Amino acid sequence: MFNKKTIEDINVKNKKVLVRVDYNVPLDSELNVTDDTRIRLSLPTINYLIKNNSKVILMSHLGRPKGEAEDKFRLDPAAKRLEQLTGKKVKKFNQIYSLEIKEYVDTEMDYGEIIMLENLRFDPGEKANSNEFSKSLASLADIYVDDAFGAAHRIHASVTGVTKYLPSVAGFLMKKEIEVLTSLLESPERPFLTILGGSKVSDKIKVIKNLLGKVDSLILGGGMTYTFLKAQGYEVGKSICEEDQTGFAKEMLALAKKNNVNLVLPIDIIVAKEFDGDAEKKLVSVQSMPVDWMGMDIGDKSVELFKKEILGARTIFWNGPVGVFEWDSFSNGTRSIAYAIAGSPAVTVAGGGDTLAALKKYNLSSKFSHVSSGGGAAIELLEGKELPGVISLLDK
Ligand code: AMP
Repeated sequence: MFNKKTIEDINVKNKKVLVRVDYNVPLDSELNVTDDTRIRLSLPTINYLIKNNSKVILMSHLGRPKGEAEDKFRLDPAAKRLEQLTGKKVKKFNQIYSLEIKEYVDTEMDYGEIIMLENLRFDPGEKANSNEFSKSLASLADIYVDDAFGAAHRIHASVTGVTKYLPSVAGFLMKKEIEVLTSLLESPERPFLTILGGSKVSDKIKVIKNLLGKVDSLILGGGMTYTFLKAQGYEVGKSICEEDQTGFAKEMLALAKKNNVNLVLPIDIIVAKEFDGDAEKKLVSVQSMPVDWMGMDIGDKSVELFKKEILGARTIFWNGPVGVFEWDSFSNGTRSIAYAIAGSPAVTVAGGGDTLAALKKYNLSSKFSHVSSGGGAAIELLEGKELPGVISLLDK
C-alpha cells in the first residue's frame, strides 16, 4: 500500500542521517513547549536510528518567521523537550548550516548522537526551495529521512529540494500517516462517515467534493454550515456565511443526492447576539434563525442527530470543530461529538489543528484509532492529491 522506501529499506548503520521532523509545536510566553505530541510522534524513527548507530541530524521549521532569525521561533525548547523524552543529550546549533556544523558532524559527532539544526524558515531558501540551500543541507549527511508528514504538502528545500541530492526514504510516522489516510479513501469499512467543521467552506471545497465520492455520510458543522443553509434558502442572520460559495454548496447538495450520500446539516443552532464568549445566547431551529443573531454552536437536537450517525458508522474521519469551542458557552457541540466518536468502536481518525486542540482539551486523543499530525497535509491527501514530500521519496 505504501509504495515508498522507508528507513527499514536502506542501510542506516553508521551513516549520517538527515531527518526532517515536524517540531512546529506550540510554545507559551516563557518558550516552554505546551503540546509535545509532534515530538513524541517522531520518537520511533529517532530511536530506530539511534539503535542502528546513525548520526542523527534533525531539522524542522517552527512558526512563521520571515526568512530571518527571530528568538521566539528558535528550536531550543523543542531540543530540550526531546532531551527529556529520549534521555539523551541533543546538541542544538544556532545556525541551520555552517562549515562548523559540517565539521562537527564529520569529525566530532558520535554515532548514536542527536543534533538539531536551527529553524529552517530562518533562511529564505527553505520556502523558496532553493537548490543552493537544499545542497547545503544535503552535504551534512549520507541519507535523508522524511518524517514530517505535517509538511509533506510543501515544496520546500527540506521536504523536496534535498531529495535531489541524497537517497531519500520515509520515517515511521510518515509511513503510518499515509497508510491510515489512504486506507480511508481506498478501503474504509462501511458505513464511512466524515464530519467536517471549521470556519470556511472555501478552505474545504476540494475535500468536500472528493469525499462525496467516497463516504456514505457527510456531516457538516461549524461556520461552514451557514453557507449550506443559505443555499437551501434559510435565513442565517449574522452568522459567518460565504455568499460567493452558495453556488458551490448547491452543487454539493445535488452531488450528494446523485451519489446517494447522506449529507447531514444541523437542525438547531445556538445563536448569540455577538461574537463573544459571554454574549447573550439562545437555542433556535434552523427554520427560525433571527436576523441579527449569529450561529455559534449546534443545538441539542443536532447533537443527537449527529450521534445517531456516529453510532451507525464503522469508519469515522473528523476534521474541524462544529462550533466556537474555544469559548465554553459554545463548546457543547464539539465536546459532545468528540466524546461520541471517542466512544465508538469504529475506526476513528481525527485531523486538523483545532480538532486536535479540542481532543487535547477533553483528554480524548488516546481514544481515537489515529490522530493525524498534519492538518493541511491530511486535507490535501483527502482531496485526492499526491503530496510532493511523498512523491520525491525513493520508490520501493
Ligand atoms: P478552521 O481553521 O477552518 O478549521 O476553523 C476552525 C475555527 O472555526 C475554530 O477556531 C472555531 O472557533 C471556528 N468556528 C466553528 N464554528 C463556528 C461558527 N459557527 N462561527 C464562527 N466560527 C466558527
